[in-house]
Amino acid sequence: MFRTRFAPSPTGPLHLGHAFSALLAHDMAVQHEGEFLLRIEDIDRSRARPEWENQIYEDLTWLGLSWSKPVMRQSERLQIYKHTLQTLWDRKLIYACHCSRKDIAAAVAAPQEGADPLIGPDGLVYPGTCRPDNSEDRPDTIPTDAALRLDMARAVAGQEAFIFEETGNGPSGAHGRITFTADQMIHEIGDIVLARRDMGTSYHLSVVLDDAAQEITHVVRGQDLFDATKIHVVLQHLLNLPQPIYHHHDLVRDEHGKRLAKRDDARAISLYRSEGLSRQEIRSLAMP
Ligand code: GLU
Repeated sequence: MFRTRFAPSPTGPLHLGHAFSALLAHDMAVQHEGEFLLRIEDIDRSRARPEWENQIYEDLTWLGLSWSKPVMRQSERLQIYKHTLQTLWDRKLIYACHCSRKDIAAAVAAPQEGADPLIGPDGLVYPGTCRPDNSEDRPDTIPTDAALRLDMARAVAGQEAFIFEETGNGPSGAHGRITFTADQMIHEIGDIVLARRDMGTSYHLSVVLDDAAQEITHVVRGQDLFDATKIHVVLQHLLNLPQPIYHHHDLVRDEHGKRLAKRDDARAISLYRSEGLSRQEIRSLAMP
């Protein structure tokens, strides 16, 4: 059975880019006689607002979409994320990190003069400042005053390469069986944050656990997340979770070719609605 989902964060209005993603996922589910689910990605408590969540339900309903109930909300799953972090901690696959962004920028700028610092899906590739050598015992309980990073070299150990299936397109047109190596993960993506200090989790950890919990067979989402998918594939491997098929789609861009952002309120679905555009008109704006 084909099961897909739309997973917005309630941190601003849905715009045409979201409409495109939701409509595409929904259309694919209908086409495959499958199921379309909704997940509210509200782990960032400092930015998520109930009024944006309500607006999401309203906009999607107005667009003619319906979804299987209940809606999953990440804020209700913090214990599950915590439990998984504890197992990764016990396996010495994550470690506590106290570095600020500034510390990381300073560390990557210093030693390799001339070489450009590497940028991964989450920003600068972490230089490993807080990574322990793991020869010593560590406390059983996870420190609460630090971020938790994945020790990528340990995470990919024993595996030369990873594969996932792409039915859409990566940024440079990648399609079909996508292969990437353990070495690329270590050097080009590195020790990403799996739990932010202020959230107790991260987008990467939550999305992987939730896609598995919702038994998602096909992930339909924007091309900007193509590299993040490599992290998700490694996490699925580590946590023994099924791997969905991925369908990354082109991003909706403005007239200058820039991708739409949350603050692009000018293209908010709610604004078009208030201006009297019909559902069909929005559909053709989002999916020209
Ligand atoms: N909450 C993410 C976003 O709004 C969704 C990412 C995903 O579909 O995996 O970008």
